[in-house]
Amino acid sequence: MKTWRDYVRRVVPYTPGEQPNRPGMIKLNTNENPYPPAPGVVKMAAHLETDKFRLYPDPTAGVLTKALAEFYHVAQEQIFVGVGSDDVLAMAFQTFFNSEKPIFFPDITYSFYPVWADAFKIPYETKALDENFRIRKEDYYGENGGVVFPNPNAPTSVYEDLDFVEDILKHNRDVLVIVDEAYIDFGGRSALALIEKYDNLLVVQTFSKSRSMAGMRIGYAIGNEELIKALNDFKYSFNSYTMDQTSLVLGAEAVKDREYFNECLEKIMCTRAWTAKELKALGFEFNEPWANFIFAAHPKYPAKELFEALRKANIYVRYFSLPRIDNYLRITVGTDAEMETLIHFLKDYMK
Ligand SMILES: *Cc1c(COP(=O)(O)O)cnc(C)c1O
Repeated sequence: MKTWRDYVRRVVPYTPGEQPNRPGMIKLNTNENPYPPAPGVVKMAAHLETDKFRLYPDPTAGVLTKALAEFYHVAQEQIFVGVGSDDVLAMAFQTFFNSEKPIFFPDITYSFYPVWADAFKIPYETKALDENFRIRKEDYYGENGGVVFPNPNAPTSVYEDLDFVEDILKHNRDVLVIVDEAYIDFGGRSALALIEKYDNLLVVQTFSKSRSMAGMRIGYAIGNEELIKALNDFKYSFNSYTMDQTSLVLGAEAVKDREYFNECLEKIMCTRAWTAKELKALGFEFNEPWANFIFAAHPKYPAKELFEALRKANIYVRYFSLPRIDNYLRITVGTDAEMETLIHFLKDYMK
């Protein structure tokens, strides 16, 4: 006799970075922004219209798509929003990756991609990064059911320029290409510049890193109207109200303040440059970082040992016990003071 247990969809879940909450800890393990959300968000949060909580939110997420459309100079119909870019990406996988052919993504990349592919029964092939952790574009020329990669890539912080992205698009005119731009605001050029030219390009971004709102869970995709309509149809097929009222209004406020946004980005890029210089001086090796984190290895000190020593000192970074990257630490760029504490600790440790 078969039971319900024989009919469970078995999946290997994604393991998010730990979310410890210790007094005085320095949290550099999940690429959050060290600065508060825009002042308009803080102000609006203090005046939330709680009487409206009894009503359903706008299923079209209009205030938010309008703010984003104005910010990026695209039509509102070219924007899809979701509960973090994880939600947007998962929906895009289900909406567009339905061919028998495998989708392609790098072997070292955002570790949610294989988890979704498995969960949604999407065949996939990973393509090995080269020895310098760069994507080999030729690997993506073959027949496939779609392509997805982050730019800058995670957890490597390596960025490829727009010509590189366009080359992959040129070789993949018949399938959907998703560029996951979770970290594009920290210095790279967005593939949004290519959406008019390539109707099969979906650019996905998030409020979690550059906009200091990981806790609100807001992500979005921008692309051709036909792609966005397909995503919305899919969304309406199982939950019309993915975005709650609070996220919608606070998200819209965040987008309106371009000046504060640029200010925070500048600060983080500045702190990143200082931290990179100090880590180099300590003997760490890494590619030029283009995200709000540095992915570094030390030739003398095993990453696992450093990770554990840092943890004891209440400094949390991310360590992946995975092939090819098990000697690297992924260190989020925090405030100047946080990075100074990190560097001091390492200097002491390596004395
Ligand atoms: C952080 C991250 C995401 C998802 O972030 P959300 O918080 O779900 O918006 C997606 N892709 C990459 C590469 C990331 O690092």
